[in-house]
Formats: sequence, C-alpha cells, structure tokens
Amino acid sequence: MRQDQEDPYQRRSARVYAGAGRGGRGSDAGVLYDAVLLDRDGTLIEDVPYNGDPEKVRPLPGARAALDRLRAAGLRLAVVTNQSGLARGYFDEEQMRAVHARVEELLGGFDAWLVCPHDDADGCDCRKPAPGLVHAAARELGTSASRCVLVGDIGRDVGAALAAGAAGVLVPTPVTRPEEIAAAGWVATDLPSAVDEILRRQRAVRPARTADKVGTALVVRSDSAGDVLVTGPAIRAVAAGAQRVVLLCGPRGRAAAELLPGVDEIIEHPLPWIDPAPAPVDPDAMRRLTARLWAVGADEAVVFTSFHQSALPLALLLRMAGITRIAAISDDYPGALVDIRHRVPVGVPEPERALSLAAAAGYRLPAGDEPVLRLRDDAVAPRPAAVGDPGYVVLHPGSAASSRACPTELAARIAAALTAAGHRVLVTGGPDERTVTARVAAAGGTDLGGTTDLAGLAALVADAAAVVVGNTGPAHLAAAAGVPVVSLFAPTVPFGQWGPYRVPTVRLGDANAPCRDTRAAACPIPGHPCLSGVDPAEVVEAVRTLTASGGGIR
Ligand SMILES: [Zn+2]
Repeated sequence: MRQDQEDPYQRRSARVYAGAGRGGRGSDAGVLYDAVLLDRDGTLIEDVPYNGDPEKVRPLPGARAALDRLRAAGLRLAVVTNQSGLARGYFDEEQMRAVHARVEELLGGFDAWLVCPHDDADGCDCRKPAPGLVHAAARELGTSASRCVLVGDIGRDVGAALAAGAAGVLVPTPVTRPEEIAAAGWVATDLPSAVDEILRRQRAVRPARTADKVGTALVVRSDSAGDVLVTGPAIRAVAAGAQRVVLLCGPRGRAAAELLPGVDEIIEHPLPWIDPAPAPVDPDAMRRLTARLWAVGADEAVVFTSFHQSALPLALLLRMAGITRIAAISDDYPGALVDIRHRVPVGVPEPERALSLAAAAGYRLPAGDEPVLRLRDDAVAPRPAAVGDPGYVVLHPGSAASSRACPTELAARIAAALTAAGHRVLVTGGPDERTVTARVAAAGGTDLGGTTDLAGLAALVADAAAVVVGNTGPAHLAAAAGVPVVSLFAPTVPFGQWGPYRVPTVRLGDANAPCRDTRAAACPIPGHPCLSGVDPAEVVEAVRTLTASGGGIR
C-alpha cells in the first residue's frame, strides 16, 4: 500500500467513540480530578489477548461497584485502550464495538472510549506510553489532562498518564513487571482500592466546613526551595481565607518563598530540628524567634512538614508566642501543642499532602485556582536576552543533595546527545556548581552555571521546551511553569510524593536501586547506579515524547 493511500489504521490519531454514559452529568467533581481514565484489558476486564468476541468479556472482581462509586461522585469516565489487534488484523472495528457494548452492558456506561488502533511500528502519538490517548480523552471529556487520573495495569499506562501531566495509578496483575511496579508513584492492589484512594484524596483537599476569614495566618515551611515550592498550593488556599499571610521559612527556602503567590510577609529563621546539618540549638536565638512570632499576632498557624519531620518543637514555640489555634500533621502524640491534628497516609504527593492539611484547617483553593504549583507573576525575572528564543532544553545536572544529582559524566553525554538531536541546550546550576556545568556544557550547550538566582532560573525554565533535571528545586520550577520534565529521579524518596506535580513528565533511572527510600543526601552506593545507567538516547526520546503533542499544559 502506498504511504498516502487512505488506510484507517495508519492514521496518526486516536479513535474516539461515544460511550453509553455520555452527557447528562454535571461537573460537580472535586478539587483534584474531573475524570478517571481506565485502561481496558487487565484493568476493567480480564485480559484476553486480541479479543474480538463479546462472549469472552469478563469484568474483574468489584469493577462494576467501583465504577459506580466514581459515577456517584460526579467523576466522568473514559476508557483509554491500546488495541493493536486492529492494526494486525486480528479483529475488525465492528467486532471491537461489539466488545465495547458488552463491557458497557456489564460495567455501565462510559462517557467516551479512546482507542489507539496502531502498532508500535506505526510510531503514532496515541499508543501508550505516548500521551496522545490521555490528551484526547481529556479533550473529549471537556477537561485537561492534569485534572484526570488514569488507572492501568502496566507501565505503559502510568507512562502515558505522566507524559500527559495526569496522575497514574498502577494496579498490578501477575503479568506486571516488578520494575514497572517499582517505578510507579501510586500503586493500588486492585481497582476497588484504587477507586477508594482516588475518592479519599479528592475528599481530603475539600474542607468539611469553611472557616470564617481570619485576620493573620502564619504558615510555616522550613527546609529547601523545592519544599517551599510544593507547599505553594496549600499556602494559596490559606491566603484565600486570611487577610494576611506570614510565611516562616528557613534560609535555604527563602528565595523560593519570595516567588510564592499569597505570601504577604516572610520571616526567615533556621529551625535546628528541621535542617539536615543543624547548628546547635541556641537558647537566645529561640527566644528571639519566639518574640518575633509573638509580634506577628497570628490568629492561627498552619505548620507544613515533610513526612519525616516533626511539627511539634515549633508548635511549642508557637504556643509560647501566644498562638491559640495550630494545625499540623503529626503521627506523634501532640498533647496540647496542636489543635487540628491531621494525618496523611504515605504516598500522597507533597502538594496534596499540604493541601489536605490546609483543608483540615478549613481552607480551600478558591474557584478557578487549580491545584498546581504557581509562581508570582511579578517575581519571575526577565529571561536574559543572550539565551536566544524560547524552545531550548534546560539541563540542570546538580542538586543540593548529591544523591539526587545527575552524574557529571552522564550529564555531559546527555548534553551531547540532545545537541546532536538538534536541541539548543542550556546548562544551569548554582554558583557552587560551575565546575560541573562547565564540563557538561563543553560536551554540548551553553554554560549558564552561577549566572542566575532562583527567580532568574524560573524565567529561563518558563521558556524551555523541556527541562532535564533530578529530584530537585528546578523540577518544581518547571512544574510551576507547566514546562515538561524529564525527571532523572533518584529513588531516595518516593516518586509519588516528590515527582514533578501535574506537569507532563517522563521518569528515567532505576527505581529499584539500593538507595531506594533511604533519604540519603549523599549516594550510599558506589557508582550512583540509580542514575548512571540512564541512556542519553532515552533522554532524547523522552524530550521528543513530551514536546510532540504540544508539550506544556498551560
Ligand atoms: Zn496510536
């Protein structure tokens, strides 16, 4: 067949079919999601390879009731399915429609069916793990990919979700590969428990009651720039319910604090029970901090922490500073230190974890403010003219924690491969990373090491086509700008909690490396194996995937 001949299976885009559940329901969905996208084979129904026979459709246990819970919660549902059996001629479109009709008979209606009819060899944009089906489903359902969560049984499903900027839940079956399970940021044992957790997360960010607007709210997020950035949505929620917001941060988070919308005043002070390399506790410094906090006259304090940090030492100081209403996450018994004691299961993305604490304190994002990372419009510096037009790739090899940095030698090979593939590469890093950025840029690209502060870096990142970066601050700057991320993610902390939030992402690296969940600041394993095995060709391919379908989401 000639290339230009009309062959329906060679079309580049997904097939869209109306479902039985189409229309009707209003969009009373929650803060996080409008829609749930479901893989078909192995997720909704038993996987019968290349099935064109409606009689062989067998729903998985509990699927109907689970889907009905989603429908009752006002979530729209779509099926997103690879059906290369069409391309291979194992069944035809009519048989497939009969299978879909049978699925709807057994499981209830779906609002849309999105089918990739292609084979891997077709190189289409819709065969999962490409993000095309997810984008098409979001469009069909009248929402955006970032407001969708996809449930599937293999790595291709999760990959497609992340590459589109959606959330992805892996529900493994016996055929799911262990490395796919390790790489997934969100894993559920079966479809009913995936649905329960989707609904729980949705509820957790919606306050049971909205508090009266308070005068001054003190919010606290110590630690580094990335920690402060991921707390941004929760701080905006507090700001919507307070006349004035004062943020207490540490020295390492100060530059990020300056970028956050909703913050009226910043107090910078190190907290020796939070900092990774703390100075000894200085009683005079603690007395001065307490006096400073007293002077704020806050009506309420919301203390944000990571899952391994304690809010309680600060809660004691806040009590001594006269604050009578304190909200914090604490698994440890807080006694009289905390008024709103909130608890969060492990695995929840940090921005949602923080939003759920804000919700427990009675705050929610105002209508129209999406639960995404954002920066102040007036805080992002203009992009230096010397870097040329937008559309370059930012490669940021370093990290304050060396365990999460890209090995210099690998970063150099990535720079060379991206340059060879026709990308303009800007190599960024802090003033103390100049040796690294110079070596990396020598292999391909422009060395910008030490030339920007965080606001300047935010400006550079905002005009990038994609950012290649480890689990460190600039990944969150990219998320805040809606710029796709190739995440070279060392698994020292869970990807599901710290991966780039609600932005198209491809995760690379060995998720099962021995450093997994160690929280190590310096790699404990010789050779940094979680990242050193990344093939630069994978990075080039990831950039292609993320930029092919329009890339950024905002
Ligand atoms: Zn396709």
